[in-house]
Amino acid sequence: MSETVATPPVGPREARFAAEREAFGLRFRCAACAHVVPSTRACSMGYPNAYLRGPMRALEEGGQPVICKYFELGETELAEEV
Ligand code: SF4
Repeated sequence: MSETVATPPVGPREARFAAEREAFGLRFRCAACAHVVPSTRACSMGYPNAYLRGPMRALEEGGQPVICKYFELGETELAEEV
């Protein structure tokens, strides 16, 4: 199942996060994770991953950081969904 999330808000926090992602080549989303199912982009462990796909954002709508504690860097990386 694929849930969609809103486009991230524009603001200084998101802008700084975007700059740091780019500068440091951060990988923290399903596209680069060893646990993603490439054909569906679902998490093979069944975790909800709507915030870890699609538009990148620093925070969920509720203010929690977008992060997955089970992320493991995979050997390959899928193209990011936009
Ligand atoms: S473990 Fe986390 S980052 Fe990896 S595919 Fe599942 S939800 Fe995505």
